[in-house]
Amino acid sequence: MKNIIFVAPPAAGKGTQSQMISERYNIPHISTGSILRNEIASNSELGYKIQQEIELGNLVNDTLIIELLLKRLQNNDCINGYILDGFPRTINQAILYDKILEESESQIDYVFYLKLPMEEAFKRIVGRLTCSSCQAVYNYMYDSTKPKVEGHCDKCNGLLVKRDDDTIEVFEKRFQVYSNETVPLIDYYKKQNKLYEIDSSISKEYTFEQIISILDNGDKND
Ligand code: AMP
Repeated sequence: MKNIIFVAPPAAGKGTQSQMISERYNIPHISTGSILRNEIASNSELGYKIQQEIELGNLVNDTLIIELLLKRLQNNDCINGYILDGFPRTINQAILYDKILEESESQIDYVFYLKLPMEEAFKRIVGRLTCSSCQAVYNYMYDSTKPKVEGHCDKCNGLLVKRDDDTIEVFEKRFQVYSNETVPLIDYYKKQNKLYEIDSSISKEYTFEQIISILDNGDKND
């Protein structure tokens, strides 16, 4: 069983790593950000409210996130584990999630803390492009992460788009929200002896190597 979560600043690569882990271990990649963006794309009233929060760099309220997540976790594909990309984001979400896990006699197995200096995160945001079809992530600022054909996804040929929240202003707000709301999760999961620190500043391949060496060897922090 592999239930995996991330604690990571914006642009640390949690989406990319989730996708790579998902392919290697055949467990679903569940991104709360993508669930929210799908709701926005459906043009619902709820989607409109969500869009306003995301565009300001704010977090969406905990009750809504938990409701959407619980619905997704009930799918059969989660039976052998799952990767949560973007949840929990606050101590309150972590506490609520722990209660849910306890009730379902389940647990978190690995918390990967992706470490990345703010300056690097900033650079990555400016060039980030996401596939509108399969959510694969590219960055035109770095040769190694450029799409082969400009504007199109290497995997599914979907159209690459810039996320509305990938602007400098929104980035600054999101980083502040991360520092205030999400960073306290590091201590929370350290105390549960579930946190693994991963250097995420070199390359996605190097980050992935560190992650799979932990997952394959079942390392435990002491
Ligand atoms: P992400 O794709 O994970 O970077 O998320 C994009 C945006 O969606 C975030 O900046 C938040 O506004 C919102 N969001 C995603 N996950 C959560 C969450 N667990 N709690 C609250 N808001 C979230």
